[in-house]
Amino acid sequence: MILAVPKETFPGERRVALVPGVVPQLLKAGFEVVVQAGAGLGAGFADADYEAKGARMEPDRAALFAGADVLLMVRTPGANPGPGRDDIALLRPGQVLVGLADPTTDPAVAQAVAATGAALFAMELIPRISRAQSMDALSSMATLAGYKAVLLAADHLPKMFPMLMTAAGTVAPARVFVVGVGVAGLMAIAQARRLGAVVEAYDVRPAVREQVQSLGAKFVEMELDAGESEDKGGYAKAMGEEFYRRQRELMARVVAASDVVITTAAVPGRKAPVLVTAEMVRAMQPGSVVVDLAAATGGNCELTRPDQTVTDHGVTILGPTNAASDLAVDGSRMYAKNVTALLLNMSADGRVDIHKDDEIVAGTCVTRDGAVVHPLVLERLAPAGA
Ligand code: NAD
Repeated sequence: MILAVPKETFPGERRVALVPGVVPQLLKAGFEVVVQAGAGLGAGFADADYEAKGARMEPDRAALFAGADVLLMVRTPGANPGPGRDDIALLRPGQVLVGLADPTTDPAVAQAVAATGAALFAMELIPRISRAQSMDALSSMATLAGYKAVLLAADHLPKMFPMLMTAAGTVAPARVFVVGVGVAGLMAIAQARRLGAVVEAYDVRPAVREQVQSLGAKFVEMELDAGESEDKGGYAKAMGEEFYRRQRELMARVVAASDVVITTAAVPGRKAPVLVTAEMVRAMQPGSVVVDLAAATGGNCELTRPDQTVTDHGVTILGPTNAASDLAVDGSRMYAKNVTALLLNMSADGRVDIHKDDEIVAGTCVTRDGAVVHPLVLERLAPAGA
């Protein structure tokens, strides 16, 4: 089968779905690999690097799509509003499309892909089971985002992170508060600690307390009944507006005393809860920084504007929505490993079996045989009250 890698078209997207180092593994598995010319440049991979590993370069995007049996992308049309939608017209029956697809936000895109007869597999839907860890692109990208959030904060904060004793006096360490301790939050804690900050953290899932402490940070105790806050997949459950109101009240003191607040709190399939209000921001010292990694799903801070720098009462609020793309070399390497692992899990002898009886294949399949098949997407498509 011919496996094709188009150049990403989402504005500012620098990652590529396949890096040269992974090409030999796919050739060995029986695939032919074709890459759109220039696809790797944003991540520092030249066409010659791909060719040296046995891939063929194709300058024409339409020809690449026409010749492909399998397309590997970072952002399939669902995760690429605007330019990505043009790709739908290039798909054809029998093709397999694998990548980030954000299928529940705008399920009409999945419907349009289904109508082409192509099978779509969404990287966001990888089940969180041990066997699928090597395919878990959300975790890979969250790791990068957590790291980047700390660097952004350090860059904007008019203070140093570490404590220093100098002839000119003692420099106090920066105080960092991380709200939401999933994959991104844990990485943010580790990175802020590496830079020498004093770190506090909170998550509704009490299970993370020990992880926070093992990284040398303090878990902020709050008198909140968060007993049933974790679902069986390890994700947070939605808690209700009264819980969030009380949480904001209890967090206000910690936010006010922090130089940096990094928020990563998310509830899958829902808008992010607002946990830092404008009033809480105004109680922070001027010069402080909020980095809101939930900006793409509405933001944890009331003042966040996606991908904009907001200044309010001297506090800087950043809402990066594609931080992993800024670290495109590692972002592409990790994503390429994830997407290749998923593909090889449903392949044998260079052929993909989209009907394989397998929890991961079924869990990630959004469309096949001309129809939307994933229950979460079907649920979103159902008319209200149906
Ligand atoms: P996520 O991006 O959905 O959410 C980020 C964090 O925000 C979570 O820890 C969540 O509990 C927290 N949160 C939600 N509402 C909050 C609130 N009101 N206040 C404070 N925090 C709030 O989550 P994620 O980073 O993708 O991972 C969540 C969990 O899944 C983690 O325990 C992680 O270790 C686990 N996980 C398991 C696997 C696997 O088993 N294969 C893979 C990756 C992650």
